[in-house]
Amino acid sequence: MQRFEAGSRPTRTAPAEWFTGTVTQDPIVEAEAPARLRAASVTFQPGARTNWHTHPLGQTLYVVSGKGRAQTWGGPMIELGVGDTIWIPPGEKHWHGAAPDEAMTHIAMHEALDGSHIDWLEPVTDKQYAG
Ligand code: MN
Repeated sequence: MQRFEAGSRPTRTAPAEWFTGTVTQDPIVEAEAPARLRAASVTFQPGARTNWHTHPLGQTLYVVSGKGRAQTWGGPMIELGVGDTIWIPPGEKHWHGAAPDEAMTHIAMHEALDGSHIDWLEPVTDKQYAG
């Protein structure tokens, strides 16, 4: 058993090549294989969002603060509020992020397949983000 005391692991700034706006990540689960689960608390400042992407084994998002948005490719924009849970099936192209006027924090949980838990695609344009 290993304890990670609150605040003992540094907050990371999410890479600009995969995100629009200011996004920070706090690790929760980063266990070595054969463990597959990855989990992180991710905070998006207003207007910030992921690129389009997919997860080989799907992803669950649980919103813990603020207001957000998420969308599947070709689908409607979904508004996210505190306590909402989103399930994204394996291989489904999507994005998630904050509302334009409010930050959002979610817990992101996903399993790795052959060491990969996410496949990054193109940015979400301002027009796409506006709906
Ligand atoms: Mn995702």
